[in-house]
Amino acid sequence: MADRYIIGIDVGGTKIACGLFDERGNVITERRFPSDPNLEPEAFFDILTGEIQGLLDTEGAPREKLRGIGLGMPSFIIFEKGYIIKTSNLVKIQDFPARDYLARHFREIPIVLDNDARAAALAESRLGAGRGFSHMLYCPVSTGISSAMVIDGKLFRGSYGCSGESGHMIVTPGEGLLCGCGNRGCYMSWCSGSMIVKHIRQWIESGEETIMTELAGNAENIDCRHLEEAWTRGDALAVRALNQMSRYLGLWFFNLYVTLNINCFILGGGLVNMGEKLLGPARRIFDEYNGAGSSSDTPVYFKTAELGDRAGIIGAARLILGE
Ligand SMILES: [Zn+2]
Repeated sequence: MADRYIIGIDVGGTKIACGLFDERGNVITERRFPSDPNLEPEAFFDILTGEIQGLLDTEGAPREKLRGIGLGMPSFIIFEKGYIIKTSNLVKIQDFPARDYLARHFREIPIVLDNDARAAALAESRLGAGRGFSHMLYCPVSTGISSAMVIDGKLFRGSYGCSGESGHMIVTPGEGLLCGCGNRGCYMSWCSGSMIVKHIRQWIESGEETIMTELAGNAENIDCRHLEEAWTRGDALAVRALNQMSRYLGLWFFNLYVTLNINCFILGGGLVNMGEKLLGPARRIFDEYNGAGSSSDTPVYFKTAELGDRAGIIGAARLILGE
């Protein structure tokens, strides 16, 4: 039995992971349950409150021994206020004072809300692939892309707590597909998992042939697993899609590097499982642009995240431990 407990929560677009930790940040138990994207914020946080309380009850961890609740959300968050501005995958969770709402149930227990990528960055920095680097970028490459920053060993949040949304930097103004951010032509609109399948569907509609339609049953069902399978079989449209993703990822890495001069990129998120077929060409594009800037004195490291999908809850718990 631990003396004090910490709860670490990682909210995703389709599932929520919830971990109970001891006060040194070691996981005691964890559970996962689905998230419902159609819920209003009050209902969403009522369910979350019930799950947290359920976890405490099941483990015999009394509430008075709870040191804090750390919560990573896929949201723009005003960090100091624990206020959610908007959430990419859970669109109804916006303009909501989440910390104050949770505090109605968990009175006097510290609650820290942060962006999910930033929580994962904290975990990778302390316990994962970023160990030993005083500056690092954690870049999830998944349905979306972003870049949480650790600078001088600390999370950098920016003036309003919204730093790291570099996936929405505009690279082709007004050109390309409309992104959830409201603009056309951001990096994400060209190379994220959710957007690349929209490009593929558009190419199919304009008459291009691909085995992805067969693999998925129809064009609507195509996802990144079909893309990877089709690429492996040499499908021309899959090759085109992966080339597009690699190209914009490489450009994105380069622009982040020239802006921040951070030499450690930790790549996380589901699409990293595609491995060298996606990241190899992206790195080559980075090197091409970085040409004169690359030398043995100034290496740039591209590393795969080590903590997998547990980084979110581990980092969320670490938010309570004072990072
Ligand atoms: Zn965008």
